[in-house]
Amino acid sequence: MIAEVIINSNVKKLNRKFDYNIPEDWKDRVHVGTRVLVPFGNAKNLQEGFVISIKDSSNYTVKEIAKIDQGELTEKQVNLAILMANRYFCNISDCIKLMLPPGTTGRNTGSRIKEKTGQFVYLQKNWEEIESDIEEKIIKSPKQIRFLNILNGNEGIHILDIEAMSDTSRVITKSLEKNGYIQVIEKKIERNPFKFKNIKRDKKLTLTEEQMNAFNAVKKAIDEKRFEEFLLYGVTGSGKTEVYLQLIEQVINKEKTAIMLVPEISLTPQMVDRFLARFGDCISVLHSKLSIGERYDQWQKIKEGRAKIIIGARSAIFAPIKNIGLILIDEEHDSSYKSDMSPRYHAKDIARFLAKENNIPLILGSATPEITTFYKAKNGEITLLTLTKRANNSHLPSVNIVDLREELAVGNRSMISTALHKKIEENLKEKKQIILFLNRRGYSTFVMCRECGFTAKCKNCNITLTYHKDENKLKCHYCGFETKNITTCPICKSKNVRYFGGGTQKLETEINKLFPSATTIRMDIDTVTKKNSHEIILNKFKEEDIDILIGTQMIVKGHHFPRVTLVGVIAADSSLNIEDYRANERTFQILTQVAGRAGRENLPGEVIIQTYNPNNFSISYAKNQDYNSFYKAEISLREKLNYPPFCDIIVIGVSSKIEKNVKEVTQKLALILKRQNIKNCYISEPIPSPINKINNRYRWRIVMKCNFNSNIIDKINDMLQYYYNMKVKNTRIVIDVNPSNML
Ligand code: ADP
Ligand code: ZN
Ligand code: ZN
Repeated sequence: MIAEVIINSNVKKLNRKFDYNIPEDWKDRVHVGTRVLVPFGNAKNLQEGFVISIKDSSNYTVKEIAKIDQGELTEKQVNLAILMANRYFCNISDCIKLMLPPGTTGRNTGSRIKEKTGQFVYLQKNWEEIESDIEEKIIKSPKQIRFLNILNGNEGIHILDIEAMSDTSRVITKSLEKNGYIQVIEKKIERNPFKFKNIKRDKKLTLTEEQMNAFNAVKKAIDEKRFEEFLLYGVTGSGKTEVYLQLIEQVINKEKTAIMLVPEISLTPQMVDRFLARFGDCISVLHSKLSIGERYDQWQKIKEGRAKIIIGARSAIFAPIKNIGLILIDEEHDSSYKSDMSPRYHAKDIARFLAKENNIPLILGSATPEITTFYKAKNGEITLLTLTKRANNSHLPSVNIVDLREELAVGNRSMISTALHKKIEENLKEKKQIILFLNRRGYSTFVMCRECGFTAKCKNCNITLTYHKDENKLKCHYCGFETKNITTCPICKSKNVRYFGGGTQKLETEINKLFPSATTIRMDIDTVTKKNSHEIILNKFKEEDIDILIGTQMIVKGHHFPRVTLVGVIAADSSLNIEDYRANERTFQILTQVAGRAGRENLPGEVIIQTYNPNNFSISYAKNQDYNSFYKAEISLREKLNYPPFCDIIVIGVSSKIEKNVKEVTQKLALILKRQNIKNCYISEPIPSPINKINNRYRWRIVMKCNFNSNIIDKINDMLQYYYNMKVKNTRIVIDVNPSNML
């Protein structure tokens, strides 16, 4: 028998099957998905690969599989990897990597995470027996008695811990074991992320009528064991999570497993706690802050079927879930569900594929659904479930818009408008908390010479540098380049260097000046550096009576601050002026979400949005949290301009350190594509990308607008073949379907 093997490599030309003979006595052990080590080419070491099919004979003289390795995949996983490689234009092995336990990929299998084991101590006899042995002086060593007394009540303690606590040595442990008093058991150590949690269990709430309707619709699909895609659309606080929890309970009762995806950033302890409170620790959490070892353990827990609920960020969709019963994607509009690295997959597409394959429902939840999702819901492709009211009867906040042009006209050059200033003052007086949101970090986003117009730019990227006052440095937010701050213009030597475009650092400085007695805390990438400090900052704000939280996007999602009554949006325009067809959508989403942070319990909330574009519809509809009107305006714009959902957008990006190469290659590829005369497909001229140089690589691109289907995939693959044959050195190509970032 012959196995067709994919070599684990990201080298493009190895993205094909190689034949290997299956040794006679391994016939039963080698199947589709088996992880094998094989001799390959002239390589000295064996190469890792996966069997992707099995056949009777080969047309070549073939080598033999050298070893069978641990960590096999299922046939279904292999098929998904093959499908993904085709759809996302990448190597099959890149897709397989997503499905392997964390830390176990790569050719060097020796560096694999070892399952850590430890020795744990238990009593071997019951305590009465031991006590009488002590009384009868059968046990008389004080050390042994001390050891046993401590062990009684601490069974399952690690051998090193009990020896330390009883101040004894291994000799004592050994003799107690020999005499049958204790038992030392070798066990796997599970690095349990919930170890120090002591959560009170809660009970399920009585669902409101709206919640009940949503619950019943999904329950029906669960009971009937069929695929159906739902959009659970409801404002923040409308009780979506409660519906998720009760549906998950249904699934667990059927001895099945549920997976819920959440955006990385909203995978907060608060949110995990809600699940722990309801279900205890049959939960597995997967996110990037876990160590590789911790992630590996979670993966094993899932594989062995000990986790009934998996909560995780994007890549958790590839967890080896047994007996899957329900998939939920919370905050389904979030851009983090799309991978911006190869394989450039969208978790929603993978989730849909898995839900169909397993005949189970898929739930997408959001207060501000993606335009594309809502469009499908309107067309009946997705079942729409709506929650219109806040579940705990708290009111939506009142929102006011401040026109910054008018502020300028009356001479207010500060970042805080008169109206916002007054509100901050009032809230401080009443000892209520405030959040100020500004989606720009650093102090000033550009530095310019007033005399000659020079602006400080990154030496590696075509991007202005941001001034960071904390370190007195200019930084590039794209490549990380840093340089000393300038006070003299390097071109004309003028001292008239000015700073424009305030970021969170400047906002904090201004607030501290305007309200010297108020306490502030800042949250952005620059303050969130250490492990967990995201959490630490939020807890501080919550528990330590800090008046004002200043932050970027990070503060927006999922957090619950009962005492926040005022939210100020410093510059609503920052997400509008981006060259992206989703600029309106992003602006509406972010404003609605920030506003949702105000007044979540019995205190009424107030929001002030400062903007230079008060008439832009994404801002004016966000004022009333009017998603439906926003959707209507946006969808007609999309239709007019032919943007998704009316087509797919495929970006073919080429980059190179040599500007001439990137231009020539992109022009050739555009020609190849146009010559194919693809029907109903718009192909743009080859042009420089909006940011045309990042990290010393020049960037050009072609944008295609069409219906992404197998015909297009074939045409793009033809073009790729042509590109690989050109063999232009140092040039890279990226093909991104509906990219989350158009820059
Ligand atoms: P969402 O996920 O839509 O933001 P949540 O499920 O977090 O909403 O609910 C918001 C608040 O309302 C929570 O404090 C929750 O405990 C409460 N809540 C949800 N459903 C109910 C209900 N049926 N009865 C009473 N309180 C509820
Ligand atoms: Zn100058
Ligand atoms: Zn740079």
